[in-house]
Amino acid sequence: MTRFAFFNGAIRPIEEARISVMTHAFNYGTGCFGGLRGYWNADQRQLYVFRILDHYRRFLDSGQILLAHLDYSPEDLAAFTLELLRAEGWQEDCYIRPLLYKADETIGVRLHNLRDAVTIFSIPMGRYIPAEEGARACVSSWRRVDDTAIPARGKLIGSYANSALAKSEAVLNGFDEALVLNQDGHLAEGSAANLFMVRNGVLYTPPLSSNVLEGITRRTIIQMAREVLGLDVIEREIDRTELYVADEAFLCGTGAQITALASVDHRPVGNGKLGPVTKSLRDLYFRVVRGQESRYRHWLTPVFETEQTAKEGITG
Ligand code: PMP
Repeated sequence: MTRFAFFNGAIRPIEEARISVMTHAFNYGTGCFGGLRGYWNADQRQLYVFRILDHYRRFLDSGQILLAHLDYSPEDLAAFTLELLRAEGWQEDCYIRPLLYKADETIGVRLHNLRDAVTIFSIPMGRYIPAEEGARACVSSWRRVDDTAIPARGKLIGSYANSALAKSEAVLNGFDEALVLNQDGHLAEGSAANLFMVRNGVLYTPPLSSNVLEGITRRTIIQMAREVLGLDVIEREIDRTELYVADEAFLCGTGAQITALASVDHRPVGNGKLGPVTKSLRDLYFRVVRGQESRYRHWLTPVFETEQTAKEGITG
């Protein structure tokens, strides 16, 4: 059970981390958030946070879109996060949720002349999508928010009504996950995960200009696929029906990790089983996030202090 939160500049009991119903962000969705994972390595008795500084850089970028003014650097936010996780003492996989929000208790839609606040809490978390080895997806009747309306590249609280509409439609219709087209009719991403497709040994993913979140896992997959698996990775628009004839497809994200798609709109993807490229990437990803791959050790920040970690400082 969660016991603490970072709130009003310090780690406090979670019961004290409360906001008013009059809070601007609660009324208008004027905030942004992040989502990080901590992975427990039982052999090393260590909890590793994955790409902590990259997550906080994107968090502050999302804030920049919302005209937020904060005195915190990514390093400051990482330090608060480590302090929080040490207080919780998680010895299992966990999820970390930072929020930056317009904190004034006032009516009036705007972004300027409002106080910006940050809070961070964490929860134990295993799988976010249960069917990670083969999810059944449908293309949603909802379109992805557009950069001309609500930018999808940042994690803006208000835009998650769009994700929730797509996800609930999919699940209530018997699917595991939704795929969302952008306003141009090309595939953007899942409800809360980026999309990849494999065709003839090449990995494809929609470009960042396709109204997708600038995903940290997406970036991780692109780099590992090139450097370790030696794959060609191409960022280009993907049509809906390309997925129908793809060899493999998967979603990726901090929550979704790497979720293979078994079918799209009732058509099996490939043979409907976990494909070889997706399996290699999943195996590699889980070794990396748990601290079993020295090549990408710099993406991990150990939470619990040992002589070794004190020397390394914060990376990731
Ligand atoms: N797209 C959306 C809409 C998301 O909410 C998420 C989850 N943060 C992702 C993609 C994956 O992003 P990341 O790999 O940074 O977690």
